[in-house]
Amino acid sequence: MKVLVIGSGGREHVLVWKIKQSPLVDKIYCAPGNGGIGAIAECVDINGGAIPTLIEFVKEKKIDLTVVGPEAPLVAGIVDAFEKEGLKVFGPNRQAAQLEGSKVFSKEFMVRNKIPTADFKAFDNIDEAKEFLAKASFPIVVKADGLAAGKGVVLCKDLAEAQKAVDKIMQEKVFKDAGHKVVIEECLIGEEISILAISDGECFCLLDSSQDHKRIFDEDLGPNTGGMGAYSPAPIVTRDLFKEIEARIIEPTIRGMKSEGMPFKGVLYAGLMLTENGIKVLEFNVRFGDPEAQVVLSRMKNDIVEIMLASCEGCLNEIQTQWDPRSCVCVVMSAGGYPGKYETGGEITGLNDVIETQSPRPDEKIDGIIFHAGTKKDGEKIVTSGGRVLGVTNFGDDIEQAIKNTYVAVEKISFEHCFFRRDIGARAIKHMQEIPEAIGQR
Ligand code: AMP
Repeated sequence: MKVLVIGSGGREHVLVWKIKQSPLVDKIYCAPGNGGIGAIAECVDINGGAIPTLIEFVKEKKIDLTVVGPEAPLVAGIVDAFEKEGLKVFGPNRQAAQLEGSKVFSKEFMVRNKIPTADFKAFDNIDEAKEFLAKASFPIVVKADGLAAGKGVVLCKDLAEAQKAVDKIMQEKVFKDAGHKVVIEECLIGEEISILAISDGECFCLLDSSQDHKRIFDEDLGPNTGGMGAYSPAPIVTRDLFKEIEARIIEPTIRGMKSEGMPFKGVLYAGLMLTENGIKVLEFNVRFGDPEAQVVLSRMKNDIVEIMLASCEGCLNEIQTQWDPRSCVCVVMSAGGYPGKYETGGEITGLNDVIETQSPRPDEKIDGIIFHAGTKKDGEKIVTSGGRVLGVTNFGDDIEQAIKNTYVAVEKISFEHCFFRRDIGARAIKHMQEIPEAIGQR
């Protein structure tokens, strides 16, 4: 069968890489793709937002399944448009994608369905939002309602910061219509965990746990980024916690969406905070996370295409997920300056020195897998074209070994002004030592 993947980041590279392993697939296209994806799929120069052009392309090439990587086309209704034309597509429709597309929708849904989340209030009026802030206690979190490319959440330590955030979102409209409403919510303290599930609208399968490192600098300092690295499994997610998340969050979400007439198909990503008062939802996303996808999909033993087809066709109950018992780590190599201003166009060297090996024999060197994010081909060279450039990924028998193996691969690669964190996974090692029932103990 022929598959089209929509998107151009590290998440789409791992999706293409994983789809390519399926015996069901003989041709993969990626729109628009990137410098690394071009080596394993045919990249086509169509943007994810160009829904009519994508439909035309899928019809012309007789593509059997389309997989949507990023949230924006899902929230814009790409699944509805494809399904109207009788085309098979993996992901939630527009109504279901509101779980990510509108924070007000998602918070109100959680309240209706008794899913634990931070206390909040929603406002569509700037004066009322500010009146509320005047009596609030701090720190507090201000969120633009709609999609804001990961930048719509402001953690405010005092009233002045919170008022400024509300002004920027609702008055200056820095996120355009996404700032028509705001959510103001309690600031949760704890550790963040990502749990992903794939659903067919009724049944779901859980993917193994992962944690990412959102801050730019070591020791989780500095501004938030799209993610500077990740690991799977996350030792902090013990078997009991995993079961609790399934019972209190994932299951009621899938059931609630169905009973409210918006069955959720595709990837449900629950961003969670493990607080003193138990597990709470920070946010839902309606697609794979990046770089969590790199580590979770690398460890998945199933044929991902079988799972995606089962999600589209409503037969996920027949699927049992299976996982590589090894740990997996992804270190993001970024352009210096990111998440602020950075330069692009520099040549990346050393890529061919990392030989991809998935199941190495004992006499074989473990080298790693390089997932490209912000790269493009420039003649024979691969050059940087974005803030997060590469996601270098590798396995190990335990988290410590996976970290070591990954950094060996990272050290082989270079480009001008390259920056990466040197402590990806360090938190996981700490949990392994502190939590007796931590997952991944050997
Ligand atoms: P979101 O886009 O809602 O996931 O928020 C992005 C990031 O902001 C999360 O991954 C958290 O690090 C942080 N965040 C969001 N909501 C809260 C909250 N209520 N308390 C503390 N941190 C939060």
